Amino acid sequence: MSKRDYYDILGVSKNATPDEIKKAYRKMAIKYHPDKNPGDPESEEKFKEAAEAYEVLSNQEKRSRYDQFGHAGMKGGPGGGFGGAGMSMDDIFSHFGDIFGGHFGFGGGFGSAGFGGSGRHRVNKGSNLRVRVRLNLSEMAHGVEKKIKIKKYVSCHECNGTGAEKGSQPVTCPTCHGTGQVTRVTNTFLGQMQTSSTCPQCGGEGTIITNKCKVCHGDGIERAEEVVSIKIPAGVNDGMQLSMSGKGNAAARGGIPGDLIILIEEEPHDELKRDGSNLLYDLYVSFPDAAIGTTVEVPTVDGKVKVKLPSGTQGGKVLRLRGKGLPDINGYGKGDLLVNVNVWTPKSLSSEEKKILEDLSKSQNFKPNPTAQDKSYFDRMREFFS
Ligand SMILES: [Zn+2]
Ligand SMILES: [Zn+2]
Repeated sequence: MSKRDYYDILGVSKNATPDEIKKAYRKMAIKYHPDKNPGDPESEEKFKEAAEAYEVLSNQEKRSRYDQFGHAGMKGGPGGGFGGAGMSMDDIFSHFGDIFGGHFGFGGGFGSAGFGGSGRHRVNKGSNLRVRVRLNLSEMAHGVEKKIKIKKYVSCHECNGTGAEKGSQPVTCPTCHGTGQVTRVTNTFLGQMQTSSTCPQCGGEGTIITNKCKVCHGDGIERAEEVVSIKIPAGVNDGMQLSMSGKGNAAARGGIPGDLIILIEEEPHDELKRDGSNLLYDLYVSFPDAAIGTTVEVPTVDGKVKVKLPSGTQGGKVLRLRGKGLPDINGYGKGDLLVNVNVWTPKSLSSEEKKILEDLSKSQNFKPNPTAQDKSYFDRMREFFS
């Protein structure tokens, strides 16, 4: 479906002033207002179309982008992101205070529920719950299923969440007759305007409870403990949040439950440090082991692995164990385990040891003689952390 030109929609010229645009939109908004055209989908479409055009043309930055790029310029980018059915009724009504100057009782109390007598009432939404889950590196590497006991609001067992005493039913609200809205007709110089607001008796729910449930006192919810099983994917990070839709607090009287937000906390590892998806390990070897070569044990998230240290290993060398790091949450492979080799210099020596080392230091092989392969510390840092 090709989109109509915003200027055509409002019936103004390309160089219309902001005031002309505002006036044109006001006319359209009144003509196609859903309260004036109940149950007419074509008017509703026109009403939304005009609102979208106004949203763009009333904003200097969006307007110039639209002038330059047309509808394509409205997708993405700061302040863009209009799809065809982009705007909600709430968005549209939020303009009304602006264009009608608040004179006609538009704006306040005229939210999404106010749409054209269709009887859409307010639905309660339960609040979100937050829990912290502490994971070790192995659990983060492989993913894990955690069962967690949480205290939360659940649907009342006595009344099944209706809030009405067993055997009784909520009754239709006598004030709004079940619509959840009360409407008022005002005469203005632009003609009769209908304004709606939330019904004060039922709070917009459309029903009231005459016989309240003894357990929940009419709320339809009660506190309880529930064991929730949380599947945590591989590759999560400290501070990451996961959300389980509908697992939060139950809503009053059969509304939509909130979400369960899971905050991931990392349990520090005794030996491994994390750097993004890489893991870092400081290995200490004795000077003779570094000179002669040996096999060492290195911890990983899956236990220890044996690593061969070649003869003549310099202190500060970094061994890269590919794929022994942590997985990426989006499945882009795995990080590495970087083993930083520290050659341990003895801090105290017996006179006998000292004598042997003094003899050794005279040997030609013990004179430092770095080649290009023995990169400097600074080069290595550039290589690993760039
Ligand atoms: Zn109850
Ligand atoms: Zn009511």
